[in-house]
Amino acid sequence: MKIYNTLNNRKEEFVPIQEGKVGIYVCGPTVYNLIHIGNARPMIVFDTVRRYFEYKGYEVNYVSNFTDVDDKIIKAANEEGVSASEISERYIKECKQDMEHMNVRPATTHPKATEEIDGMIELIESLIEKGYAYEVNGTVYYRVKAFQGYGKLSGKNIEDMEAGHRDLLVDGESEKEDALDFVLWKPKKEGEPFWKSPWGDGRPGWHTECSVMSRKYIGETLDIHAGGEDLVFPHHENEIAQSEAANGVKFANYWMHNAFLNIDNHKMSKSLGNFFTVRDIEKKFPLQILRFFMLSVHYRSPLNFSDTLVQSAANGLDRILTAEERLKGLLSKNTEGVLTDAEEEISKSIDSYVNKYEEAMDDDFNTADAIAAIFELVKLANVAITEESSHELIKKAYDTIAKLLDVLGIKAERAEESIDDKVQEMIDKRQEARKNKDFALADQIRDELLNMGIELKDTREGVKWKRI
Ligand code: AMP
Ligand code: ZN
Repeated sequence: MKIYNTLNNRKEEFVPIQEGKVGIYVCGPTVYNLIHIGNARPMIVFDTVRRYFEYKGYEVNYVSNFTDVDDKIIKAANEEGVSASEISERYIKECKQDMEHMNVRPATTHPKATEEIDGMIELIESLIEKGYAYEVNGTVYYRVKAFQGYGKLSGKNIEDMEAGHRDLLVDGESEKEDALDFVLWKPKKEGEPFWKSPWGDGRPGWHTECSVMSRKYIGETLDIHAGGEDLVFPHHENEIAQSEAANGVKFANYWMHNAFLNIDNHKMSKSLGNFFTVRDIEKKFPLQILRFFMLSVHYRSPLNFSDTLVQSAANGLDRILTAEERLKGLLSKNTEGVLTDAEEEISKSIDSYVNKYEEAMDDDFNTADAIAAIFELVKLANVAITEESSHELIKKAYDTIAKLLDVLGIKAERAEESIDDKVQEMIDKRQEARKNKDFALADQIRDELLNMGIELKDTREGVKWKRI
C-alpha cells in the first residue's frame, strides 16, 4: 500500500509502527458556524482512508479534534451575546449531524481543546525546561531557531522565512526574540475565556492542542497525520517543532494533505457569495451524492464544485444504485442455485474488478480509479447477470458492489431525499386541510408545491413526494 507522504514529497510504501494497527490523527474544524463543503472534504477523504484500512484488516485508532477555543469562536459569541462554550457546543452538535448525514463515522476519539488544557500546560512547561520556549509578560513563545529541522514538512527554509517576516513584526509581538517564534500561550483579554497557568491567566495558542491530543490518544509517533493542504504551514510545521522537541522522537511517519475544494473554479469565499454549507447542499440533494462527488476525484487534486459536475456524479451514482436494485430484485426471485461452469468465468471477472479496485486504493487511495472499477463491475453485472443466473452469482455480484461502495462510505440503497422545512410545513398544512375536508385549500397547496417542483402523490402509506 502506497501513500503520498508530504514530508518527503513522494509515494512511499506504508509500514505501520505496530503490525496490523494504524493510528491516524486528522485536524478537525474550528467550531464557530456550520461546516462548509470545503471542511467536508478532509472529513470524507480521511474517513474513506480509515474505512479502507479496516477493509484491509487493520485496527484503526482514528482521532480528530474539535478546536473549541479560538478568536473566531469568541467573536461569534460576542456578536450573539452568549458564551464561547455555547457557540462551540452548538456547532459541535451541528457538525456531528452533518458528519452522520455524510456517513462519516465518528472518530475513535473526538477530543476538544478546552478539555485538554492541563496537558497543553505540561507540554509548554517541558518545552521551556528544554530551552525550546520562553515567557515574556505572560506570553509563551516557541523558539523556532532552537529546533533543527524547522521547515522540513513545508520545504521552507529559515532564511527565506526570516526575510519575509522582518517587517511583519506585529505590534505587541515585538517582545519576541525572533520574528519566526510563535505563540504557545497567550494572556487573557477582557471578555475572553481563560485558564490558570504558571504564566498567568490565559489560553493556549492553536498549534499546541494537536501535539497534546495526538500524543495522549495515539502516542508520541503517529502512523499518519492528516488535514487540508492549507495546514502544512504553519500549523503542521509548528506541531512537528513542538512534538519532536518535547518527545525527542519523530512525530508522524506519513503526512497526508487533501487539496482544496473550489466553487465554479473560484476559491470559496463568503464575500464572493459562492459559499455553501453542508446544510445548504443537503436541502438540494442527498449528501450521499456529495460524498460520491468528492471521491470521484483524487484527494490530492483540486476539486471543482459546480452544478454540472455534481449532476454528473449524481447520474453516475444512480447508475450504480439502479444496478444494485435490479440485482436485489433478482435475488428475491431467484433463491437457489450454485455457480455453473459458464458462471465461473463471470465470477472470475468480478474478482478481477475487485483486484483493480484494490490496486487503485493501494496506490495512494485513488478513489477515482476505484470508482471506475465499480463502474466496470456494474456494466458486467448489467449484461451478464439475468433472471437465469444462479442465486450464488447474483449474490456475489450484489455483495461485492455493496462492499466496495461501503469502503467509500456509500450505501447500496437510494438515500431518502431530504426536504426543506418550508416544504414540509406546506405538506403538513395540506394534510390538515384534507382532514378538514377543505379540498380547495388542499389543491391550492398541491399546485403551489408543483410550481416549486415538488409533486405529491397520495398513497395508502401516506403522502409521498418527488422532485420533478
Ligand atoms: P478549519 O475549520 O478552517 O480549521 O478547517 C478544518 C479543515 O477543513 C482543515 O483540514 C482545512 O484544511 C479544511 N478545509 C478548509 N477549507 C477547505 C477547502 N475549501 N477545501 C478543502 N479543505 C478545506
Ligand atoms: Zn492540528
